[in-house]
Amino acid sequence: MIAQPKASHFVDGAYVDDTAGAVIEVIYPATGAVIARLHEATPAVIEAALASATRAQTAWAALRPVDRARILRRAADIIRDRNADLARLETLDTGKPLQETLVADWPSGADALEYFAGLAPTITGQTIPLGRDFVYTIREALGVCVGIGAWNYPSQIACWKSAPALALGNAMVFKPSEVTPLGALQLAEIYIEAGLPAGLFNVVQGRGGVGGSLVTDPRVAKVSLTGSVPTGQKVYAAAAGGMRHVTMELGGKSPLIIFDDASLEDAVGAAMLANFYSAGQVCSNGTRVFVQKGIKARFLARLAERAATIVMGDPLDEATQMGPLVSELQRDKVLAYVQGAVAEGARLVCGGGQGAQAGLFVEPTVFADVTDGMTLAREEVFGPVMAVLDFDDESEVVARANDTQFGLAAGVFTADLTRAHRVIAALQAGTCWINAYNLTPVESPFGGVKASGVGRENGHAAVEHYSQIKSVYVGMGPVDAPY
Ligand code: NAD
Repeated sequence: MIAQPKASHFVDGAYVDDTAGAVIEVIYPATGAVIARLHEATPAVIEAALASATRAQTAWAALRPVDRARILRRAADIIRDRNADLARLETLDTGKPLQETLVADWPSGADALEYFAGLAPTITGQTIPLGRDFVYTIREALGVCVGIGAWNYPSQIACWKSAPALALGNAMVFKPSEVTPLGALQLAEIYIEAGLPAGLFNVVQGRGGVGGSLVTDPRVAKVSLTGSVPTGQKVYAAAAGGMRHVTMELGGKSPLIIFDDASLEDAVGAAMLANFYSAGQVCSNGTRVFVQKGIKARFLARLAERAATIVMGDPLDEATQMGPLVSELQRDKVLAYVQGAVAEGARLVCGGGQGAQAGLFVEPTVFADVTDGMTLAREEVFGPVMAVLDFDDESEVVARANDTQFGLAAGVFTADLTRAHRVIAALQAGTCWINAYNLTPVESPFGGVKASGVGRENGHAAVEHYSQIKSVYVGMGPVDAPY
């Protein structure tokens, strides 16, 4: 199986390569086969990308918003027309099953292009009356934005970052994760086909060092990172040197709280979605499942029953529900957490091994009797490993749920809606669900608090993060100077 792109990078409207850059091997996680070989961007490629973005941005920002929007809408249509092929490539790049990539990855990216295309022409300034004088405001583009992606939703991340950036008149240089570099190149091609002028969306490949060169370049006005907390801390600090805007979409250890009165089937289904979708490689996963003691036995029994039906296997078979993890590194990390949880005294309810496929696969795994101090309850695993913790009452569970450095997401299942709203109000998390989990429509702002991040993607909130306000005071009479 080969998925070799025409070249490693996409700069100024065309594929380019520089074989002097270190090699990046792209692995299909289901088989371990090398499906493409790319090169990291050299300083010359990075320079070309930033220079072309800088050149193209001013004219782009000067267009009527409806003219920019039309191009984004066309790109969304192309994505939808090609969804089957794009989903297949996403599956090869990430190992996620087609059953997911067909409905979740590029379709959600296309939603973002449509949404921000619709939103951009509605953005206006204000007029602020001051008696004789007045102020008006202009919402301006920031300039050249850098997007840096993680490997779990590579194409969705490229769309979620570039759509608001471009709609509001910015240019973007995007660096995908070195683990999953293929989807962003497709997006760059699609934008050009849709009529986007060259230079406005450039893709450069590379590891952290390439990301670091982009973040500190004086031409860059904003950095949007999706990644882990340690990377976020480094990138935020580097961006601060140039007083750059940032959006940080980082990791989590989110609580999913299930009260005794919740619908058992819905709560079990949500807990599974919150831990096993994309083989658990989802930042907002509800990986600390707090279950009230009255429902615990029934919850665990039903969970084990349903988890046993998950179909693991060939991601290209549409019947497959769970694929492998993305890399050997990730598999080893996840298996080490499983072993650590056993050693710390958590009770293995199901899974814990690799299943018949071995390789990079890890079975859907559930631990019960997890306590707050265990490593499994404190650190982000990023694999199909659910930790179930018991609780007695509401105030106790809220305090325990908040006792973490993270604050990306949270969920509550209960039939008592008054309680649901009260609990959500008390939880320290940026993205919350009541009787649902992990639904992230583009209309809804997405992001975290505390160590999980800064800023929001999607929704009207994203406008704040890809534009800035200019205030213009207009004097309508003589200047009143005291000298
Ligand atoms: P990572 O932090 O290892 O890497 C993220 C990106 O940053 C990669 O492209 C990497 O090359 C780049 N990078 C690394 N060091 C850098 C540096 N010093 N300067 C600039 N760029 C640098 O994360 P990952 O392993 O790719 O992804 C998994 C993590 O991402 C998890 O913690 C997960 O929770 C998080 N994540 C968050 C969200 C969200 O929206 N909040 C979404 C998906 C994933």
